[in-house]
This record gives sequence, C-alpha cells and structure tokens, in this order.
Amino acid sequence: MSAPREITRISTDLLILGSGGAGLFAALHAHQANPKLDITIAVKGLLGKCGCTRMVQGGYNVALAEGDSVERHFMDTIEGSKWLANQDLAWTLVDKAVERIHELENELGCFFDRNPDGTVHQKAFAGQTFDRTVHKGDLTGIEIINRLAEQVWARGINRLEEHRAIELVKTPDGSALAGVLMIDMRTGGYTFVQAKAVLLATGGGPTMYKYHTPSGDKSCDGLAMALRAGLPLRDMEMVQFHPTGLLAGTGTRMTGTVIEEGLRGSGGYLLNGNKERFMQNYDPKLERATRDIVSRAIDAEIRAGRTSPNGGVYIQMHHLGPENVRKQFKGMVERCADCGFDLAGGLVEVVPTAHYMMGGVVFEADCRTPLTGLFAAGEDTGGVHGANRLGGNGVANSTVFGGIAGDSMAAWVAREGVLRAPDEAVLAASIAAHEAPFAQPPGDINAVREALYDLMWDEVGISRSAQGIRRGQARLAELRKQLEGIGVSDSDRAFNLTWHDWLNLANLIRVSEVIAAAALAREDSRGAHFRADFPDTGDLPTSTYTVVRMQDGAIALTREAVQFTRVRPGQTILKEAA
Ligand SMILES: Cc1cc2nc3c(=O)[nH]c(=O)nc-3n(C[C@H](O)[C@H](O)[C@H](O)COP(=O)(O)OP(=O)(O)OC[C@H]3O[C@@H](n4cnc5c(N)ncnc54)[C@H](O)[C@@H]3O)c2cc1C
Repeated sequence: MSAPREITRISTDLLILGSGGAGLFAALHAHQANPKLDITIAVKGLLGKCGCTRMVQGGYNVALAEGDSVERHFMDTIEGSKWLANQDLAWTLVDKAVERIHELENELGCFFDRNPDGTVHQKAFAGQTFDRTVHKGDLTGIEIINRLAEQVWARGINRLEEHRAIELVKTPDGSALAGVLMIDMRTGGYTFVQAKAVLLATGGGPTMYKYHTPSGDKSCDGLAMALRAGLPLRDMEMVQFHPTGLLAGTGTRMTGTVIEEGLRGSGGYLLNGNKERFMQNYDPKLERATRDIVSRAIDAEIRAGRTSPNGGVYIQMHHLGPENVRKQFKGMVERCADCGFDLAGGLVEVVPTAHYMMGGVVFEADCRTPLTGLFAAGEDTGGVHGANRLGGNGVANSTVFGGIAGDSMAAWVAREGVLRAPDEAVLAASIAAHEAPFAQPPGDINAVREALYDLMWDEVGISRSAQGIRRGQARLAELRKQLEGIGVSDSDRAFNLTWHDWLNLANLIRVSEVIAAAALAREDSRGAHFRADFPDTGDLPTSTYTVVRMQDGAIALTREAVQFTRVRPGQTILKEAA
C-alpha cells in the first residue's frame, strides 16, 4: 500500500473557485464591502486567461436605450426561457445588469463601442425585441476580463493559479461546508483550503459534445463536485447549442468555436449544401429566430443530407457589403481567415455546437445554496434562463450574480462566518479516489473521450428520443467502467495532463449521466430540449422543472412546479402591450 499523501493546509475568509466574470466580480465586491477580508481565488488556469467570459464575442444584454426597458428585457428573457425560468432570478438579472454595465464602464474602465452621439452602441441579438447588446467590437469578453483582472491584481487578493478544485468538504456532521480540496497542478500535490465561505463559479460548460465552444479548462468540475456533495441541480436537460460553430475539419481545434450571433442578427443568411436559404421553412423570424430553433433547423438540413463538404451548412455575409462586414466583424473575419474561409466575401461552413448549460446548482437570488457556507454564481447555477438563454444574457448573468455573491458572502461572513473543521474521512476518501488511476495499467483515454463526444452528440444532443437517450445511458455506463480501468503514469505529477484528462472525463461522464436522466424525464419539448417523440411544448401554466441530486450513489430526480411570481403564461408586464 502506498503511503498517505500529504496535504498542504491553508485557511482564508472567502474562497472563490474560478476567475471568470462571476469569480472576479465576487472578489471585487467582497473586497469593496470589507477590505480587511482575506480573499483567495483558486483557478484551474491562469487568472484572467481562462474560462469562457474571456471568450465572449457578441456582448452584454442590458436595457439602456430610449424606448427599451428593464420590463421589456425581462419579458424577452421569460419568453426565451419558455416560461421555465425562476422569475425572481430573471428579474434580478435584468434589473442589476443596468448597474453592472455602469460599474464596468465607470468604475472598472471598460471601453464599449459608442454611437456618434456618445451613447453606448447596442446591437441586435436573436430572440430579442430590442437592440440591447452592449459590445466592444466582437471581442467583448477580453475587454471585460482584462479590466476585471487588473483590478483584482491591484487589490492584493490571494491567487492559487493552476489549482484544480476537486472536492467540497463538509464538517463531520455534514451541516456546513468546511473548505475545498484541490490539486496543485504545478506539483501534483494536494491542498486543502479551509474557508468561512466558498463561491462555486467554475462555469459549467458542455464540453462532453463532439462540437463544443467552451474553453478547454472547463469540464463541469463544479457541477460534479456539487453532485458529490448532495446538492440539487435543476434544468440539467437544457443544453444550449449555438447554431453556428465553425466547421473547419477534424484536424483543428478551431472546429466548434463560435461564429457569433451578431452575424445573423445583422442580416446574415444561412444556406444549406445546395446553397439555398432554408430558415423560411422553419420559423417566420428566419435567421433571427432563437438559438434552439435555428440549431434544430440546421440539424434537420444536415439529417436530410443537404450538407456542405464537411457535413454542415454555410453562413453568407457578402450581400451586406464585404467592406462593411470586415469593419463590423473584424475579429470574426480574422478567425475565419485563419481557417481558410473568407467571411466577408465568400461562404463559411458552420455546424451547431454545444455552447452553454442553462442547468446548474439550485440557488437563491442572493447566491446562497442549500449548503451552509457555499454560494454559487454564473454558469454553474440553474434557474436564471430556464429552457433557453438569450445570447448576451450569459455574461450579464455571471457578472450580475458574481457581484451579488461578493456582497452576500461578505455580509454573511460578518454575521455568521467561522472556520470549521473538515471531515477528515471525506478528505482521505477523496484523495484515495483521485489516486485510483495511478494503480491501473495505462490505456487509451482518447478513445473514451471520442466515444463520449459521439454518444452525447448522437443520442443526447439537439434532437432526442427515449430510445436514443436509453442507448446513450447504456453507453455512458460502459464508458465509466472503461475509464475506471484505464491507468495514468505516476512518473511525474507536475502538470500531469493525462491525469487531469482522466479527471475531466470522470466529471464529464457523471454530468452527462445527469443530463441524460433529466432529458429522459422531460417528456415535452421546451427551448433547447427537443424530444422527437414528444414534440409538443406541454401546458405552460402547469410547467415543471427537473431537479436532480445524487442519493446513495444513484441519480434521484424530482419535478417542481414553476412559480409564476411576476407574470403568468399568456400575460405581460409591459404596459404598452397590456
Ligand atoms: C465562445 C463563447 C462566446 C460567448 N459569447 C457570449 C456573448 O457574446 N454574450 C454572452 O452573454 N455570453 C457569451 N458566452 C457565454 C459566457 O461566456 C458565459 O455565460 C459566462 O462568461 C460564464 O461566466 P462564469 O464566470 O460562470 O464562467 P467562466 O468565465 O467560464 O469561468 C470559469 C472559471 O472557473 C475555472 N475552473 C473550472 N474548473 C475549475 C476547477 N475545478 N477548479 C478551479 N477553477 C476551475 C476556469 O478555469 C475559469 O477560470 C460565450 C461563451 C463562449 C464559450
């Protein structure tokens, strides 16, 4: 038997997991609320360089312009959610987005594009009744994350970079969170960070699908940890596919990356393999229909065999004037050129790509979770977007709720925050589980990953059926066993990427099982979730959402009735429409 591994122990007042929009905003707000707090950000990558917020292209939804209103943004969000969103969370999102965008500009120094009259330029995004997406060209996330990271660096907030959180460790009686166990990826050693309060902001990310957009550091670690800690997750069947991922062949990781929505918003066309526009056969809003509708339409064209050479469809922009396209979508034009495509003057091959998880940890509007001491924000949480997230509401979500989490955690720690002793048995068991791959003979991890990609794409993807999901579930069980039999070399633990790949896959398989279970349970078609065997939406006033948790090693699923706390299906809060 190998000797027990040593654990480095640290303590801090607030521990923040993840340095996307949610994590960084939480750190800044908590510091502002109480500069004496000892705050630590632990992140799998390098602070400011990882996660999806940095990748935001299109922009940030907020009701600023004359004629728009918070109420209108709210109604778009609720309609977009197909009436599944938690309405109080959605209201918090749209209401606080106004404050947050001013904070980003006026306190943090972000430059967003402006109109000649000095007002902030807001562009059209699909599924919205008003042009309300604030942006910096089509590279908005870099502007936001760079400014946030600079401010965090300037405040002496502690950083544990290249530290991978692996377990939420409770107190021995299980009543509260004591801290988080991590792997220091630079050495391969274990670190336990004891904290009075912890924020889960690891950003979800559906990277278990063949084509996907999120950053490579994301493997649903936060959701897998939350499941192991017994926390409830809602809406897990709701995986959003962005309609236009770049399709540049199998030899490049650029395949699957997003060709932004603003292209369709500004008048871009989608053409099938016969070079014919086809959206008129699917939705009166044509290319500006919501992501779920456009993704399904493309999927249908592909299944009907009307494909481009690499198996997708085309996006066309040149009818809007190549010069104009080059100016308006500089980043996109350059990205496409890198892959040999001429976006401004020619056609670019695209395919739907897994983009965002609407589902996540059940949480309150002040970011508390059911586990004392644990807060959650950003893409790790569920309920804000219901069955479908509007483009532009993702970064609003992470920054709005990240800021709220920072305020709430600082206030909570002042009231009832104490350092709690961890359950040492849980620590030891978690380390044993993470050491397990070192005891197995080596095997082909890539084969497991490819098989996972294919099965999730084919069986639990854009169009689902009971038969297909069950096939997917059986395959997931086989893959789990296969992975557990595959070992990893123990010759060097520093940046042992095979080990981290193994751990990524274990988490992705677990979360895929949860997605499949929720998808099988939902026998209607809502937003991002389409069941070919149940194509109807179901009765809106009696809508329910799925809640999944792990109980004794098995997935337990319940349904909860949606509470229409602000507006009922068929009604509106807009005065002009009432
Ligand atoms: C290509 C792309 C374009 C997008 N464009 C838009 C857009 O135009 N508008 C919009 O509203 N939304 C957009 N989104 C969605 C948006 O990026 C996300 O909704 C949002 O930024 C998520 O923020 P977050 O803070 O929750 O997570 P992220 O920004 O993803 O941050 C997660 C952090 O957690 C860290 N982490 C992960 N696992 C661990 C672990 N085990 N331990 C420690 N740290 C960990 C990561 O390294 C990262 O730092 C886009 C997404 C992508 C992928």
